[in-house]
Amino acid sequence: MPGLYIHIPFCLKRCSYCDFISGIYNPALADSYISALKIEISRLPNKHPISTLFIGGGTPTTLSTDQLHSLLNTVFQHFSFIENYEATIEANPGTLDIKKLTLLRQAGINRLSIGMQSFNDQELALLGRIHSSEEARRSIEIGREAGFTNIGIDLIYGLPGQTQDSWHYNLKTAVSLRPQHISAYELTFEKDTELSLFMKNPANASLISQDCEEEIIDMYYHAIDYLDSKGYAHYEISNFAKNDKECRHNLNYWDRGTCYAAGIGAHSFVDKVRSANISDINKYIQTFSQGNLPFQDPRFITDEEAFSEALFLGMRKTRGVCIESFAKRYKKNLLTIYVKEIKELTAMGLIEISASECSYESELRLTRRGLVLSNEVFERFI
Ligand code: SF4
Repeated sequence: MPGLYIHIPFCLKRCSYCDFISGIYNPALADSYISALKIEISRLPNKHPISTLFIGGGTPTTLSTDQLHSLLNTVFQHFSFIENYEATIEANPGTLDIKKLTLLRQAGINRLSIGMQSFNDQELALLGRIHSSEEARRSIEIGREAGFTNIGIDLIYGLPGQTQDSWHYNLKTAVSLRPQHISAYELTFEKDTELSLFMKNPANASLISQDCEEEIIDMYYHAIDYLDSKGYAHYEISNFAKNDKECRHNLNYWDRGTCYAAGIGAHSFVDKVRSANISDINKYIQTFSQGNLPFQDPRFITDEEAFSEALFLGMRKTRGVCIESFAKRYKKNLLTIYVKEIKELTAMGLIEISASECSYESELRLTRRGLVLSNEVFERFI
């Protein structure tokens, strides 16, 4: 069953670390964008019911209730959905109120993914977030009041000046709010962002210690161990879930399932073709007024590329990839194709082959050390 991704490229303010495709919310531009988006959505194939919907951004909840209502009407009229579908919207504290969240819940959205990032006001200020830690806490309560029973929280670690204690406090606070899902991402210093420029200033050098790499790895391991002790299963490099509430939309992506996409910069995967939409919002809006499609560089994935994709995407999941299922699906044996790579990575302690917990099959997966060095591992399989 396919997934559907919709991109909303608006935020109230640019965060200091952000290089996502997003600009400042402007009601008139957002109206034009939603009109174009609705045309794109209504042109997508709708023969099969949708299993997962993910409205990401940007901050989709910067849209007004009228804009959200109009967008969701088109989505739920154009597509049918399987009975137990998952429909997520990304939301940020500071853009949420009970009226908006109730509308989203009633319109068919059943999962909230809230970008908390930290519960420490100083850290939030460094990240340039628009909200306080108190607003972050309150947003999950409003979500529940509006009827959401499946809520995810995003956190960031490895911030300049962040201590192990402060990271532990963020994890502890997140757990105390009882979300079903927690994502923990390492901060990356993207080129030319406000935060990268800030850190280039010698006056701020003391915020990064000499042992920062080891400290960041400790923060990651602490998240794995602490969240596990609180009942959150570590199912993907950066993702943890309680009571089987993994993000099904992302699992479909890592399993190379079909995914339609709409909006600027959105990536789709349909019938072995990966496509990306143009990322310029004005060109995107114009494209529709000229009767064109906004695709850029559609790329056919060969069988060889599919095999390699399935391996490095599948290995993002902590249970790894099943060697026997792989052989059945791709008619190739992983162990003979990647003899050298598997031997070397195993010797380096980055991957392991282990018996599956639920069958007689064996799985190839990242070790605890391999989770930290996953990019180095994946490069060997491309
Ligand atoms: S809210 Fe998210 S998308 Fe928007 S500026 Fe901040 S990090 Fe970027």
